[in-house]
Amino acid sequence: MKKQFDTLAVHAGESSEGPLDEPLVRSAAFGFGSADEAAARFAGAIDGPIYGRWGNATVRAFERKIAALEGAPDAAAFASGMAAIHAVLATHLRAGAHVLAPLAVYAETAKLLREHFASYGVRVDFVDQTDLAAVDAAWTDDTAVVWAETPANPVLAITDLNALAERTRARGALLVVDATFATPYHQRSLALGADLVVHSATKAIGGHGDAIGGVVCGDAVRVEAVRQRGVRAIGGMLAPDVAWLLSRGVRTLGLRMARASSTALELARRLEDDERIEAVHYPGLHSHPGHAIARRQMSRGFGALIALELEDGVAAGKRAYDTVQVFTRAVSLGDVRSLITHPATTTHSSMPPDQRRAAGISDGLLRLSIGIEDVEDLWRDLDRALG
Ligand code: PLP
Repeated sequence: MKKQFDTLAVHAGESSEGPLDEPLVRSAAFGFGSADEAAARFAGAIDGPIYGRWGNATVRAFERKIAALEGAPDAAAFASGMAAIHAVLATHLRAGAHVLAPLAVYAETAKLLREHFASYGVRVDFVDQTDLAAVDAAWTDDTAVVWAETPANPVLAITDLNALAERTRARGALLVVDATFATPYHQRSLALGADLVVHSATKAIGGHGDAIGGVVCGDAVRVEAVRQRGVRAIGGMLAPDVAWLLSRGVRTLGLRMARASSTALELARRLEDDERIEAVHYPGLHSHPGHAIARRQMSRGFGALIALELEDGVAAGKRAYDTVQVFTRAVSLGDVRSLITHPATTTHSSMPPDQRRAAGISDGLLRLSIGIEDVEDLWRDLDRALG
């Protein structure tokens, strides 16, 4: 029976026999009955756990749940979103390879590419991926990975994944999508042509701000290669306790995202009509340059993130940031709590100022991550803080 998203979120990856809740297996190593059994398990002739870094049942249950929600044959879980991103890049890049990354991208991903992979002889160009002519112009014979993030951090730029996938397929490169902002609820990136999709599970997948993790989804061969590199070789495995928390969180992903995205759309519309606001970036607004693509490639809404610029710029942004009472001043996103971030001085402070400006991140930009609180309480809080 083909099951819908909310049914999969509750049941996928879990057993309906024995304990209803996925058992939390903390053991680092697992006993063998005999020398022959140990040898057979090592040889893969019989199934059974050996050692936690090589596989753990609680982590596996989380992986199976996310794979089902992404419509992916398999998924591999990591200690954080960055561990997942590093594992994908380390698996697919060699000295001399070139990466085409977006201008608007999570700043730590940019830093990983610009500083760490560059030291291994990998080249990277950051281009505006909403401009396909710019993508084509930056392509080289060595382009091995096209990294996309959509909607993108923090201005919610939308990239046309079908158009990128056409190019990566024709030119033999790998298309990887960081879909943290969309979650599998709003976007099925693999169906849109991505070869691998990455999530920071710390965000809406976990949803409660109490667990750091990451996940990579795709076909079984690619996922296994990333798992072998990033988990077994490098040791970036997700801790079982955290996997348990993330599985618990993801059961309500659909409920939380439905609520957060409808509240975000309502707030974005009110902010757009407000004269204290210079610009509102939300893919659900007709005024957003990526709206038509977002309508095509996102489903059930446009996510929980809004970026806004105030009429009075930096000073007003700082005042609003300092005076909110329902919104929490914190980085991260996708939490049940609504959060407010000032990217230029926090999440994106490590990005060179010229890249920040080119990515549309002005010094006065505020990013809101909408939670599940009452929409009128959130509006009253913003209205008061905007002065
Ligand atoms: N990708 C995006 C889009 C993010 O916003 C973040 C964190 O904010 C990450 C990746 C990294 O995730 P983590 O903090 O779980 O390592």
